[in-house]
Amino acid sequence: MSRPAIIAVAITGSQPTKADNPAVPISPAEQISSTHEAFEAGASLVHIHVRDRDGRVSSDPALFAEVQDGVRRHCPGMIIQFSTGARGRSHAERGSALSLGPDMASLATGSVNFATHIYENEPALIDELARQMLAHQVKPEIEVFDLAMLYNAEALVRRGLLTRPLHVQFVLGIPGALPARRRVLEFCVAELADLMPDATWTAAGIGRAQVTVSQWALELGGHLRTGLEDNVRIDRDRLAASNAELVERTAALCAAHDAHPATPEVARRILSLPAPPDFGG
Ligand code: ZN
Repeated sequence: MSRPAIIAVAITGSQPTKADNPAVPISPAEQISSTHEAFEAGASLVHIHVRDRDGRVSSDPALFAEVQDGVRRHCPGMIIQFSTGARGRSHAERGSALSLGPDMASLATGSVNFATHIYENEPALIDELARQMLAHQVKPEIEVFDLAMLYNAEALVRRGLLTRPLHVQFVLGIPGALPARRRVLEFCVAELADLMPDATWTAAGIGRAQVTVSQWALELGGHLRTGLEDNVRIDRDRLAASNAELVERTAALCAAHDAHPATPEVARRILSLPAPPDFGG
């Protein structure tokens, strides 16, 4: 039987601009409509960064709230995940929207060099974000950009700052971090299964690696992520027309690997998230 695979769509991110691809949604209205199209195409989870009027990364809880409300209204049951990522944000700002109670939030469990800067996540900050997520009942998605982050996550479980079952995302293909090599993903997946057999995982391939990494994830039993945050192109010669086009391509990959896009209801069950009230329990 075909297995359900969760397709996460990272609609905006902190880096791409309209100059990179005019389809990158910036305003809350654009983000809501882009998410809705992606939802219709098979995405059951949306990963959200917000931007101010000038397109700069913002931590304004009002913007997060506006996007969250719109997605809840237009995409019934879709899993809402806020980024707590760093670019352009102070440490205090990174958890500023967790009190809004999104279903999930990203949590990087270590620091890593990217191409031109340090993605800095010092131990005290990781602890603090994990505590806030516990307090607001927000399920973290553990972002593994480098191998040690996997073991750091397990240490946080032992210290009571994270609750099993974990959901882990392996991010492959960022220059300076884990490369998009199949053996790297296989090793990460095997280590996760050894440390925490109840965990679920996604693999995200950045840029050109997006399709290849999705294929590996399908072959190895994981879940999927796409979207303009990670990759603005369909191929070398053409920009993606929308987040939905990237989701459609990912859904087609599922069909080729005896899988199908998970509905929001099934995705919530897979991730041990509560059903939202409108599912009727
Ligand atoms: Zn992100």
